[in-house]
Amino acid sequence: MTSPHPTSSQEFAGLNALVTGGASGIGRATAELLAARGARVAVLDLDPAGPDGATGSLLGHRADVTDDTSVRAAVGDAADALGGLDVLVNNAGIGARGTVEDNEDAEWQRVFDVNVFGIVRTTRAALPHLRRAAQTGRGPAIVNTCSIAATAGLPQRALYSASKGAVYSLTLAMAADHVREGIRVNCVTPGTVDTPWVGRLLDAADDPLAERAALEARQPTGRLVSAAEVAAAIAYLAGPLSGATTGTALAVDGGMQGLRLRPA
Ligand code: NAD
Repeated sequence: MTSPHPTSSQEFAGLNALVTGGASGIGRATAELLAARGARVAVLDLDPAGPDGATGSLLGHRADVTDDTSVRAAVGDAADALGGLDVLVNNAGIGARGTVEDNEDAEWQRVFDVNVFGIVRTTRAALPHLRRAAQTGRGPAIVNTCSIAATAGLPQRALYSASKGAVYSLTLAMAADHVREGIRVNCVTPGTVDTPWVGRLLDAADDPLAERAALEARQPTGRLVSAAEVAAAIAYLAGPLSGATTGTALAVDGGMQGLRLRPA
């Protein structure tokens, strides 16, 4: 008997995807994985070529998710170039350290502008295209990159955690709003992922090796998550194999959320 499920190796054949923050780290790994599984993929980023200066088969669109005009233009251009949109990965994000006393209002607004309102702007611009995909039975999906910080109570991360808490609840609300239209919305909650972002964080530390060891010890698996592991979870939530899943958060965090182990 033929399986009703697509084989995961080409599950995105004929589908079009847009990945924000797709030039680096988790976003780049996701864009490359979706393309490898058959999708036509566009990345939206401040610098679409990213740290390694290459886009490969990915279409690059330069935009800042804090600028509504540039987001609308980039999403429209990407949909035109691809021939529609079936998948939106809202991944662009920035970090922030400190307690509530350590960051002034302007910094709170800057981080929320990227991490939360960036998702709002990109989703608003993409929804008409995703609705068209739903009407033709293509099962569109949105995946937001959230963080374990949304629910873990991490020290020295008040602003970042609050922004990701908003991403978490926004994911659930969006899932409820669009489920009847046939658009699924989920998020991933990564632990600490080995990306250029974490590289910059380690470079800035007084003792990068000790800082890396502390980050590794915080995760029960004793190692950092890889960008490819997060990309695989995003691809699952974005693709037809997760057609019955909406309004969920998939943890890719080395056991941080689910396990209660003491660091070794
Ligand atoms: P990264 O810095 O390697 O990549 C982020 C990308 O987003 C970059 O290409 C950057 O240019 C782009 N970007 C930033 N601000 C933008 C803006 N205003 N408009 C358009 N593009 C913008 O970071 P990463 O580690 O791959 O993180 C990606 C996402 O994963 C973020 O949302 C982050 O919060 C989340 N996350 C990361 C980790 C981690 O440990 N690395 C853990 C949990 C969640």
